Amino acid sequence: MFKGGVKLVDFKSLSKNEKIEEFKYPEKVIIPLSQHTGSPAKPIVKKGDYVVEGQVIGEISGFISSYIHSSISGKVIDVLPWNLPTGKKSLSVIIENDGERKSIDKTERNWLGLTSEEIINIVRENGIVGLGGAAFPSHVKLTIPPGKKAEYIILNGCECEPFLTCDYRVLREYTDEVIEGLQIICKATNVKKAFIGIEHNKIDLIPILNNAIRNLKIYIEIEIKILPEKYPQGSEKHLIKSILNKEVPSGGLPIDIGCIVFNVQTARAIKRAVCNGIPLTERVITCTGLVRKPKNLNVRIGTLISEILNYCDGELKYGRKIINGGPMMGIQIYSPEIPVIKGTSGILLLPEEKLPEKIQPCIRCGKCIDSCPMFLAPSEIGRYVEVEMFDKCENLNVFDCIECGCCSYVCPAKRPLVDFIKYAKFKLRKK
Ligand code: SF4
Ligand code: SF4
Repeated sequence: MFKGGVKLVDFKSLSKNEKIEEFKYPEKVIIPLSQHTGSPAKPIVKKGDYVVEGQVIGEISGFISSYIHSSISGKVIDVLPWNLPTGKKSLSVIIENDGERKSIDKTERNWLGLTSEEIINIVRENGIVGLGGAAFPSHVKLTIPPGKKAEYIILNGCECEPFLTCDYRVLREYTDEVIEGLQIICKATNVKKAFIGIEHNKIDLIPILNNAIRNLKIYIEIEIKILPEKYPQGSEKHLIKSILNKEVPSGGLPIDIGCIVFNVQTARAIKRAVCNGIPLTERVITCTGLVRKPKNLNVRIGTLISEILNYCDGELKYGRKIINGGPMMGIQIYSPEIPVIKGTSGILLLPEEKLPEKIQPCIRCGKCIDSCPMFLAPSEIGRYVEVEMFDKCENLNVFDCIECGCCSYVCPAKRPLVDFIKYAKFKLRKK
């Protein structure tokens, strides 16, 4: 088990029993060309073009980049910059739905006959990125760097953020596809042993997973690990520590210690791309919080958040805020006219918190240090940020911060510690 972290009330009962519903095809979609880690895709369509579902509309522009596909059929009505849930802007393709649901031809394949290179290429061409939040291109994760070797794949089913239940529902309802995806990942990386990590609050998944493993033809060793409910259990580094008792070195990657972590929805997307020829044009999200009808929805990428909130009867009024993602690591968005992107795991409607008007001084209680799972001193970093001594923050390993939010959560003075840390990283990167 890892040091630090916090125990949170999970609020998952609001949506945990809501089966995944197919969200209607929207009238229009707004599909950003930069919705992944790495360089934005290059647009290959223009205003007036006709596109079908699954057609490439943005081409990969480097090794760390991703293809972007249309999620509906219809006419491109514009290509222009649009706000992203992350607060940035990205050139985006706006498509008006023609209601025809025309699609590219899909190629069915048996993954057993494919080589590692062929699998990685299919994953790349189908625009698969990590669906746990960071949206890191999956073909890059599957490509083992020279001199390294992958020994274990870990499937991340922790979903440790409160409120979110979309990964839980995917594991429950699409168990076979997730396990098949895990086997394909192992074939691509030449790994023989995989773990599935889930938190204790999802213990009811064990018989479902075991049943799927019994009924499918399994070519690898799969071990299910039940982990205590402790945030941020689902962070890659902490999941590895909990399962393998190994530490990823500072500034390093899981592959440096022979391990790669994939989210459960990513594994399912890989299965669908490889076996069914389906590009990443949809994903399952949770819409919950102060909405009257919390739901888990399968949504076309590019659907506006306003449409989803309407469907779930989530009224936007004074004193409420919208969060893209979970309450700990998610980002508040200031307009619902923002699209769902590949990294959107949830839409939360939460009460606005009353923060102190002025930043309060640190009372040196040490709670932030105790809660930090990365062995950092957030109180110290915060003090240096306030006096703009960013080099000192670098000496305090600010870049090791995974922005989990535990320090801000526990701080009795309500100091905006994660915001301080993000600001320090921004300033240091600009140096
Ligand atoms: S300093 Fe970073 S890693 Fe540590 S608790 Fe705060 S946000 Fe999490
Ligand atoms: S938790 Fe807040 S008040 Fe306590 S040491 Fe950390 S920054 Fe200071």
